[in-house]
Amino acid sequence: MYEIKRIRKKGQEALQGFCLQDLEEGSMVGQGLWQNYRKTDEGVPLEFLTFPLLEETGIVKHLFSTRLGGVSQGDCASMNFSMDRGDSRENVLTNFGRIAQVLGCGIDDMTASHQTHTTNIRRMTEADRGKGILRKRDYQDVDGMVTDVPGLVLVTFYADCVPLFLVDPVHKAVGLSHSGWKGTVKRIGKRTVEVMQERYGSRPEDLLAAIGPSICQDCYEVSKDVIQQFQETFMPPQWEEIFYQKPNGKYQLNLWKANELIFREAGLKNSQIVTTDLCTCCNPKLLFSHRASKGKRGNLGAFLMLKGEMDDGADGMKNAF
Ligand SMILES: [Zn+2]
Repeated sequence: MYEIKRIRKKGQEALQGFCLQDLEEGSMVGQGLWQNYRKTDEGVPLEFLTFPLLEETGIVKHLFSTRLGGVSQGDCASMNFSMDRGDSRENVLTNFGRIAQVLGCGIDDMTASHQTHTTNIRRMTEADRGKGILRKRDYQDVDGMVTDVPGLVLVTFYADCVPLFLVDPVHKAVGLSHSGWKGTVKRIGKRTVEVMQERYGSRPEDLLAAIGPSICQDCYEVSKDVIQQFQETFMPPQWEEIFYQKPNGKYQLNLWKANELIFREAGLKNSQIVTTDLCTCCNPKLLFSHRASKGKRGNLGAFLMLKGEMDDGADGMKNAF
């Protein structure tokens, strides 16, 4: 039994103490976020999260993983995508393979970031298929990726930091970026929008953005030196939306709101942005959290691809909802 905690919002009942499998198919596990349940070809139950806002475009497949449905053990149990945290390559590739089944692709269609809290965005092409997972990476310090290649799966990794999904249904292009506090200060979300504009002609008014499961403000205490950087780069009227000071001199930082403001700066309207309220740190049995585990954890994965020409929209995802 996995307990799900949600942030209590005005007029919204908090859900607690249920297992994802107990929910109706297609029910919401967080604001703007669907839970999905599917058996792999091996008969293993696999649970993952999707945004209806992105799903409804009909041009992408995407998901954010949970800890459930993989083969990894111990601190990495069970759906871990990091090869650098004590897990075996074999386990991690098995986990990738199960996600590939859900997406209807191969592991060799996936290409991964190399996250070092930069704002570097790399344009991924056919030549990048498999890089960072099955094949050697020939790039580094890449925290965001964009592509217009159908069937090429962008993959980024998380355990409290903020996943940013971007879809341009008009120009058929996607972006996926990793935004920790450093990436947020440096506005990787806006940078991703700019790169999609430069590369694919994307217009901010056409984009859809999803801010995924990550650490909530209640769980995210930071020190003054972090807040000073936010004070330098955000306008004073925005400060009370994104942090507050506590009697102990520390601050609580709201990365969700900060990333929303950054997408607004980039030209998106609120109606084009969905932010979930599912917190990694509040739900450490369901999701990996660096803070909740004191660093003993695996990585969650965000996956985003444009559908291939062969995909008719009634493909492998249909059983997922
Ligand atoms: Zn939390």
